[in-house]
Amino acid sequence: METAEIRRRWLSFFESKGHSVVPSAPLIYDDPNLLFVNAGMVPFKPYFLGQQTPPWDRATSVQKCVRTGDIEEVGKTSRHGTFFQMNGNFSFGDYFKAGAIEMAWELLTTPQGQGGYGIEPDKLWATVYEDDDEAADLWVQLTGIPKERVVRRGLADNYWHMGVAGPGGPCSEIFVDRGPEYGPDGGPAVDEDRFMEIWNLVFMQSSLSDVRTKVDFDISGDLPKKNIDTGMGLERIASILQGVDNMYEIDEVYPVLEKAAEMTGKRYGAQSGHDAAHSHPDDVRLRVVADHIRSSLMLIGDGVTPGNEGRGYVLRRMLRRAVRSMRLLGFDEPSLPHLLPVSMERMSNSYPELRSGFGRISQIAYAEEEAFRRTLAAGTTILDTAVAKTKAAGGTRLEGSEAFSLHDTYGFPIDLTLEMAAEQGLEVDREGFRTLMQEQRDRAKADAKAKKAGHANTEVWKKLRETGATDFRAYVELTSEANVVGLVRDGDLVDELEPGQRGQVVLDRTPFYAESGGQIADAGIITADGARLKVLDVQRPVKGLIAHTVEVLDGAVRPGAEVIAEVDPEWRISACQAHSGTHVVHAALRQVLGPSALQSGSYNKPGYLRLDFAWGQALSPETRSEIEEVANLAVRKDLPVSAHWMSLPQAREWGALALFGETYDEQVRVVEIGGPWSRELCGGTHVQHSSQINALTVTGESSVGSGVRRLEAFVGMDALRFLAKERALVAELTDLVKVQPGELKDRVAALLVRVKDAERELEKLRQEQVMAQVGKLLDYTRDVRGIRVLTHDAGEGAGADDLRTMALDLRHRMGDSAPTVVALTGVAKGRPVVVVATNAPARERGVKAGALVRVAAQTLGGGGGGKDDLAQGGGTDVTRTGEALGRVDAEVAAAAG
Ligand code: ATP
Ligand code: MG
Repeated sequence: METAEIRRRWLSFFESKGHSVVPSAPLIYDDPNLLFVNAGMVPFKPYFLGQQTPPWDRATSVQKCVRTGDIEEVGKTSRHGTFFQMNGNFSFGDYFKAGAIEMAWELLTTPQGQGGYGIEPDKLWATVYEDDDEAADLWVQLTGIPKERVVRRGLADNYWHMGVAGPGGPCSEIFVDRGPEYGPDGGPAVDEDRFMEIWNLVFMQSSLSDVRTKVDFDISGDLPKKNIDTGMGLERIASILQGVDNMYEIDEVYPVLEKAAEMTGKRYGAQSGHDAAHSHPDDVRLRVVADHIRSSLMLIGDGVTPGNEGRGYVLRRMLRRAVRSMRLLGFDEPSLPHLLPVSMERMSNSYPELRSGFGRISQIAYAEEEAFRRTLAAGTTILDTAVAKTKAAGGTRLEGSEAFSLHDTYGFPIDLTLEMAAEQGLEVDREGFRTLMQEQRDRAKADAKAKKAGHANTEVWKKLRETGATDFRAYVELTSEANVVGLVRDGDLVDELEPGQRGQVVLDRTPFYAESGGQIADAGIITADGARLKVLDVQRPVKGLIAHTVEVLDGAVRPGAEVIAEVDPEWRISACQAHSGTHVVHAALRQVLGPSALQSGSYNKPGYLRLDFAWGQALSPETRSEIEEVANLAVRKDLPVSAHWMSLPQAREWGALALFGETYDEQVRVVEIGGPWSRELCGGTHVQHSSQINALTVTGESSVGSGVRRLEAFVGMDALRFLAKERALVAELTDLVKVQPGELKDRVAALLVRVKDAERELEKLRQEQVMAQVGKLLDYTRDVRGIRVLTHDAGEGAGADDLRTMALDLRHRMGDSAPTVVALTGVAKGRPVVVVATNAPARERGVKAGALVRVAAQTLGGGGGGKDDLAQGGGTDVTRTGEALGRVDAEVAAAAG
């Protein structure tokens, strides 16, 4: 039975039992704790947790899942894929244990002719949680399964919870006995390969108050409404119903494996039995290829692009493992273009969007393979050298520094180094590698800190902070009255800053925004009694302390002075526009491209912003316009902008976007625009209403590394100025070609066509002219010791192509009745060219075109060559073409002897 049919029967069976059919959620789901959806229940979590009321009492789905934790199992067990589909039926306070068991049994054992899966009842086993007498009894009562085939197991195997306080309950798993050729008898407790788990029924009945580990938790009571959550591996049941040994041999996976075997000339299964755990390494590799290709296809299909972190890294790792496995199997050419389409053909039965999106999907995958091939080419040689060196010295471990430099210089991921070293029988000093990585990170941090501190010693700043943290007023006012807490110059505390000097000023309170979160520091002025200081930069050298880098314009300032700190209001409004604009563009990006287009960095200053985000390919002009349109509509909607302080978990709950790898304080600030439309953790300054952003115009989109794109935009007045400039340009052009702006494009296109036509016409005329000369030239044929020689300088404008055509034409006209040599020179683009043609009788007398051209070209100060019958050359000295032809004459005479 085909997988697609098993899936169809599943949905229609549960639909006939009153379940609503819910489509699969994408693999990336709005859950910050999950890399990918890994079970059928994930999209239903809010119902099970009581956060939302389910719209149905019963539901069923076939959910796409990815379990990255199973990557090492792939190919080595018969039943673990990185991607798989989980069939599920769910009850929200409706039926419970009896209903779940009864329906599962019915679907599994109803004969195939009657719409079921037709598994013989005596091949089925069930497990229950050891204390769950109720379930054990129900199995025997409702299905007639003998008591001996209902096995009791402990908490580790048969109890389910979410790892946190919340719902929990016992489960009951269903196993199929695949027969003695797969392993020893005795049930699932003895052999999980022979007795394969296909279906897990979870009975959510208790409320857990404290969960310490998988097997250590407190039950605080019964759930008011009991739920059912089940999961059956579609690939696993398919392997049973299709009578194959493992999930890599089912109809949705095997064609890729077969193709890979064909490409590498391997005979799959020739050296292995049924037992996956003892397969030949080549068979395992073929399964890895088939599995990873399919998973990559599904991941890219759902918007994941290869990258160095998080989801992108999982995808990168799978694509690279597939490519590497193909190489180990002996296939060195690009392999994805052969394999990915095969997988798409199979999977698009159930997921038609894979076919329509295949252009995009394949582009991302193939580009990654190309990038990886380059990395491999560079790194493999280095690795091989390092391995050879280690072995020669009698070592068994590759130094951490080698692994680090491979990573640092060639982008070799550590797992690849581990794998490749292992293939050559070496270990890698992982500890050493980790230490070096940490040192590198520390260095980068120290560099960033040094910039923040304006190169002053941290101790200086800590001392200044002893009087208290700076009162940061940037969110509430543009002007503050303040006192000078301390002055720093060249890294040391000083008593005074004088006119013309630069240094740092620390105040007890400031309205200046210190650079952070991509937003640059405010500009403005600090005035004191008789003194004026221009603010050049504002940083936080240590936590809580703000330092203004200033240049003293007039007067002098001393610690203790009363000052007025004033942010340039024009600057600030522009800065706010830029920062709010960045959030708006980010939200617009995600609205248009989907949630995987996540910001990885940003920078904004008055009038300008840029945003780096995860995406595998260039945006089309249409997509760019769409993003711009969505962003400007949000500006026009005048959405309220507000900031809220809350705990980090609460911010997560709000769905606020945070940057990968950043560390945040316990209390975080969430800036939202238009409510949930845009929520980001952010310490920046913002406008109050989106309309104050004024205008946004995207000016560029480019690549900044693999899988990361950069979008740039102008905001506010700068956006208008940018547009005005473009308008002026259009005006100049319309003036130049004398049309209305609307006709400009057509006119330029028409002009280009005319230029092309004119060029072609010119070319034709020149050809004709050249050919017209030819007839006359025949009269100049001379006899040199019995050889007919025709030399001619065609002069300026006659290029190599022209001369060749002419020489061949002349040779043809002169015929083969006597030995003939044609030698022509010309000048094209300021350089002399020479062409020589000989006929067969001439060649028989030893007169060869190649040799003649070499002599002529030498005279011209260059070189050339060709065959005996036709050759060409060129040089640099246009004044010596006559001389060159003379040399040809002399050579012919000499050759004719
Ligand atoms: P196992 O112990 O075999 O890894 P599991 O206990 O992790 O399975 P569950 O979390 O209960 O599995 O998931 C429910 C069902 O999903 C399983 O009964 C199985 O049929 C299927 N399943 C789980 N993991 C995979 C996988 N990596 N590949 C294919 N199917 C899987
Ligand atoms: Mg598992």
